[in-house]
Amino acid sequence: MTNRVTGGCKCGLVRYQGTRLDAPMFRCHCRDCQRLTGAGHAEMMPLSIKGFSIGADCKSFKMTGGSGQPTFSGFCPNCGSQLTRNSARMSDRIYVHAASLDDPGLYRPDKSIYADAAPDWDRAAIIASD
Ligand SMILES: [Zn+2]
Ligand SMILES: [Zn+2]
Repeated sequence: MTNRVTGGCKCGLVRYQGTRLDAPMFRCHCRDCQRLTGAGHAEMMPLSIKGFSIGADCKSFKMTGGSGQPTFSGFCPNCGSQLTRNSARMSDRIYVHAASLDDPGLYRPDKSIYADAAPDWDRAAIIASD
């Protein structure tokens, strides 16, 4: 198994590549993820910031994350696909949206976060914590 991953947006304008970070992959149910994805939750895979590269066309939207720190959402300015999420709080990593991977089958969510924010119609997606 290789730890190298590649991905990109729907229209092909923005491509990225990076290396898996040994940290949990997670399903985030927070309101930011709901609004940004238009779905009940987001599926996030952590990559190392070292060696991560993404096309210069990628746009970044700055917001305040759940931690109170600046958080950045990277997306394609042409087709609008959500691609990345990173924050000042965890500067060693950048998260990519699992469905943007060329091989989304590499994603295996380890846990849910902000499960309290999940709407009733998406509560079945919450991964029980142990
Ligand atoms: Zn695009
Ligand atoms: Zn979230």
